[in-house]
Amino acid sequence: MESFLSNRYNHFAMYRKAGLLGKGYGSRRVIVVDDFKRDEDEREHRLQDRYENLLDKVERMEQETREVRAHMEAEKARATTDALTGLPNRAAYDERIAEEVARWQRYKTHFSVAVGDLDFFKRINDTYGHLAGDKVLRLIAKVVKLKLRGSDFVARYGGEEFVILMPSTGATEAHQAVDKIRQAVAKSPFNFHGKPVTVTMSFGVSESQEGDNEESLFSRADEMLYKAKANGRNQAVIG
Ligand code: GH3
Ligand code: MG
Ligand code: MG
Repeated sequence: MESFLSNRYNHFAMYRKAGLLGKGYGSRRVIVVDDFKRDEDEREHRLQDRYENLLDKVERMEQETREVRAHMEAEKARATTDALTGLPNRAAYDERIAEEVARWQRYKTHFSVAVGDLDFFKRINDTYGHLAGDKVLRLIAKVVKLKLRGSDFVARYGGEEFVILMPSTGATEAHQAVDKIRQAVAKSPFNFHGKPVTVTMSFGVSESQEGDNEESLFSRADEMLYKAKANGRNQAVIG
């Protein structure tokens, strides 16, 4: 825009210099030309100012949009993260299982779900206090996460219960994976008041079957967890 306006004035000056504006351009005409130049300069400055204001405004709006987006993403992360363990929470699980079930229904690949629950966790709280219990939950969350494959998903379902989604994984493979987690938890060194304490976990595993949905898959895994508890705990039962 600037160069366009400058060019217009430059052309005018050029014509005048070249005598193309004719002899009639005497002193009165010089005043007219000077007026014209001043008006054009002012117009150019006004346009330049408006242009710069506009750029500022666009810049501010872009900054605001970035801030709103970052705020929304932080809110979403907060709403789907468990504050104690940092794992995805129940809301995140609900979202993810719906996606995974839809994917499984579409592509008919294997898909397994595991529900894990700490054994006799009430005793830990009762014996060592609630804060010690919290510490155990945080450590268990780390162990489980560490042992999972990148494509798997784990959430704190609530209390001392965790749920694992294993896409493209059949029952036998899921059972093996979960049993590795179980062993890693049982081997984890928990120290209370300088004394080592063993913490164990039980798991129920289920693989998707024709006609399954989010609820039926979870309930079957939960029933298997109940069996694992009834069978003596610290084990993974598949069904
Ligand atoms: P089971 O082997 O049958 O699962 O026995 P359990 O003692 O683990 O099960 P129960 O359901 O009797 O007790 C669960 C305990 O988990 C009770 C509750 O206070 C504790 N708990 C749940 N959420 C938290 C938490 O966020 N922090 C702590 N410290 N304890 C929790
Ligand atoms: Mg328990
Ligand atoms: Mg429980």
